[in-house]
Amino acid sequence: MKNKKIALITGILGQDGPYLAKLLLEKNYKVYGLVNRRLKPNFLNTDFLGITRRIKFVYGDMTDETSLKKIIKSIRPKEIYNLAGQSHVGNSWSSPKATTEVNSLGVLYILNAIKSYAPSARFYQASSCEMFGRPLANEPITETTPFKPCSPYAISKLYAYWLTNNFRESYGLFCCNGILFNHESPLRGEEYVTRKISLGVAKIKLGLASEISLGNLDSKKDWGYAGDYVKAMHLMLQQKRPSDYLVATGQPHTIRDFLKAAFNRVGIKDWNKYVKTDQKFMRPIESLSFRAKPNKARKILGWKPKTNFNELVKIMVEADLKRLRDK
Ligand code: NAP
Repeated sequence: MKNKKIALITGILGQDGPYLAKLLLEKNYKVYGLVNRRLKPNFLNTDFLGITRRIKFVYGDMTDETSLKKIIKSIRPKEIYNLAGQSHVGNSWSSPKATTEVNSLGVLYILNAIKSYAPSARFYQASSCEMFGRPLANEPITETTPFKPCSPYAISKLYAYWLTNNFRESYGLFCCNGILFNHESPLRGEEYVTRKISLGVAKIKLGLASEISLGNLDSKKDWGYAGDYVKAMHLMLQQKRPSDYLVATGQPHTIRDFLKAAFNRVGIKDWNKYVKTDQKFMRPIESLSFRAKPNKARKILGWKPKTNFNELVKIMVEADLKRLRDK
């Protein structure tokens, strides 16, 4: 029997980790997942996809270089997907140091471990469109658009982006940055705006809440479906040569659009009366990087999103309605 390919996923219990693990398991990989809470890890997301028992969990922390070295040395994975991170842009203003320790230094530790113990491993770094921040030119964003980050989160990701590039160029490691635009799903954390909306709308529909409080409703994002985006991550590591790819739908929408579509899904037309704006959810400065041109991923990886905006909203609202009804 052919040996299974071994993959290590950090951030396995977040949103993207379970979707990627499911994809790799379907491709017959042996999947290891890094878990940073030895006490009471939360398996809700891997349970949601029915894959918890098929993953081999290893305990370690992105801020603990020794644990990462030990894990990589003992597993010797062929593919490493670094999805761990403090991923909430808003929270990065209140916790800039913790954000930097995980998102920047954590990547340095993992790359060092790869260089020492698994130099032939292929490495995926979860980079972010937030690195473009407030682009100087009003043109669609591509892989060559200059970065202008505008949050501690974006700055921490930029360090990791360049480090990933640098290890590729300095040591010849197979390292790729996936510069992903926002992607959502029923597994999104409840503090993120799309999930706040899908859960809030489901609660309002079922008479369990009366309003949703949000920040700037005119903020625009390019939202795709996480289940589609993990396919691009995998494809990046299957290419002949390592490179960086931007992954997006190319179709931005406002938070207002998301609200309208979500309320529409449950048959509520006069949605305005259920939505309050609250100063505490406004960001000190908004990223304006929402117009993307993901041509390279389309051309080289053959990747394009399958799920459109309205389908994404439907998936999220229906999942939250089901969760609440099943409680
Ligand atoms: P997520 O749901 O927040 O998951 C991140 C995971 O990282 C969590 O399971 C978290 O575990 C883990 N983590 C945090 N600190 C850690 C540490 N010190 N050691 C080990 N694990 C740690 O994020 P996601 O949406 O899946 O995104 C995956 C990655 O892609 C993130 O790096 C994110 O910044 C990046 N990204 C996401 C998007 C998007 O739209 N989703 C777009 C671009 C880039 P705990 O919760 O237990 O701490």
